[in-house]
Amino acid sequence: MRDWLGREINYLRMSLTERCDLKCIYCRDENYYCRGKQELRTDEIAKLTDSFVRLGITKVRLTGGEPLVRKDLAEIVTIVSSHPEIKDIAMTTNGQGLAGRVAELKKAGLKRLNISLDSLDETCYREMTRGGDLYRTLSGIREAIDAGLGVKVNVVVVRGKNEREVDRFIDLASKEPLDVRFIELMPIGTFGEKSENHISNEEIIRSHPELHRVAARSESQPSVDYQGEGFTGRVGFISPVSHRFCDQCNRVRLTSDGKLRMCLGRNEETDLRPHIEDADLTGIIREAIFRKPAKNEFTQLYHANRRMNQIGG
Ligand code: SAM
Repeated sequence: MRDWLGREINYLRMSLTERCDLKCIYCRDENYYCRGKQELRTDEIAKLTDSFVRLGITKVRLTGGEPLVRKDLAEIVTIVSSHPEIKDIAMTTNGQGLAGRVAELKKAGLKRLNISLDSLDETCYREMTRGGDLYRTLSGIREAIDAGLGVKVNVVVVRGKNEREVDRFIDLASKEPLDVRFIELMPIGTFGEKSENHISNEEIIRSHPELHRVAARSESQPSVDYQGEGFTGRVGFISPVSHRFCDQCNRVRLTSDGKLRMCLGRNEETDLRPHIEDADLTGIIREAIFRKPAKNEFTQLYHANRRMNQIGG
């Protein structure tokens, strides 16, 4: 369907939980208590998915929190993939619990994985994730590549933390069949709101003249892609702060407690949970999507009402 600005909305980012086995410094506060009880059940997810498909959603990304902490994850992937209209099912994960589960998820219909990995240094990784094990995520990445799933590695570059590792990540994209995407830190949560933690992607691009711009894989992708000579993978830059891509935005978000959020950088939400049994659930969703805001508010004095793990990154 199209919103009031004529943007075609065909991409749903569905958060399955706000629980996570990591506490990344920019994503959630160390002592934040993650609620599990409010999570949508599989039957509720099935009804909502039916309505979204009727409205023209063709791509679904499962996210969170950490989707792998949900025991019924494979069942949810199966529910989504049972719709032939959905051409692409992807998942964003920290990869800590991925090794050993790739075959099951692929069988259920998962096609692609975005794996968050902010450091290739064991100590820095542990610090940025507040306790994560680098090698668990690396084995998950290897298993996903070997299984033939499309793999993208997401890196949030933070001033004074992992900025010196940019070259190592570019090297990874040069050798492995995966894309590395540098994502600008967004002003969500206490850490992200501090300007001294931010690095603009422009700065990274300027200091890597050996990389040249290549055509996007798809029109609506948020990243601008680059490659160097002989690269196997790509290096993408996602710059929601320095270069808004709201004009091409084709996505909406469903939080794990059933709120439809039309924009990551805006606080407006529509609570769908009370309407799941309504005959006009599809109409309610249609009306909310139609009013999708024109732009995110990252450049103004934005204060997010939820942390990233609660919204679904
Ligand atoms: N647990 C999964 C993971 O780690 O990929 C999925 C959820 S996580 C919230 C999704 C993505 O949001 C991750 O790539 C994470 O790095 C990113 N993210 C979280 N907080 C962010 C922030 N303030 N700015 C930019 N990216 C952020």
